[in-house]
Amino acid sequence: MIISLVRLPADGLSFRHQYVSGELDIKDREFSFVEPPLVAGRVDRVGMEMRLRGEIKTNLLAPCDRCLSDVPLQIGLPFDLLYAPAEVSGQATGEIELHERDLDFAFYANDQIDLDELVLEQLELGLPSRVLCQENCRGLCSECGADLNAGECRCQKPVDPRWQALADLKAKLDTQEND
Ligand SMILES: [Zn+2]
Ligand SMILES: [Zn+2]
Repeated sequence: MIISLVRLPADGLSFRHQYVSGELDIKDREFSFVEPPLVAGRVDRVGMEMRLRGEIKTNLLAPCDRCLSDVPLQIGLPFDLLYAPAEVSGQATGEIELHERDLDFAFYANDQIDLDELVLEQLELGLPSRVLCQENCRGLCSECGADLNAGECRCQKPVDPRWQALADLKAKLDTQEND
């Protein structure tokens, strides 16, 4: 969805858009939608810049950091962004460099703002830094890739020699008891 700034009212503009399945291109993203996003907010002119405030709501699936299984996440993501006109900013190089490091800053061109880009970028940045299917997820075996949550894999685990010595001793004692 594109927000046109051509006839933006002096007191700003509210927007609200419920995406439908397949509307956003997420083939290169790590997440997938259970429910496509709802984005709502408002755009206000602040001098040469446009301020977009609002919230993105969606249910999505993101991979567990350890075992890569899909983890359902309920997202309610507020945003507050400043958009500067790309044409003018091009002249003030120092300012661009400063702004590019700021995640809450973007550019608009041709008097329009691409809401799809905003939503995808905010979701990418706003996902939890740690996604786990369960707190004690055991992850994948580094040898065979088996999901260790489903049980031990067949890879031989090297036995610590100290435990092996104890096991030997116990076996010996058991044998003596039986005698
Ligand atoms: Zn996991
Ligand atoms: Zn294994």
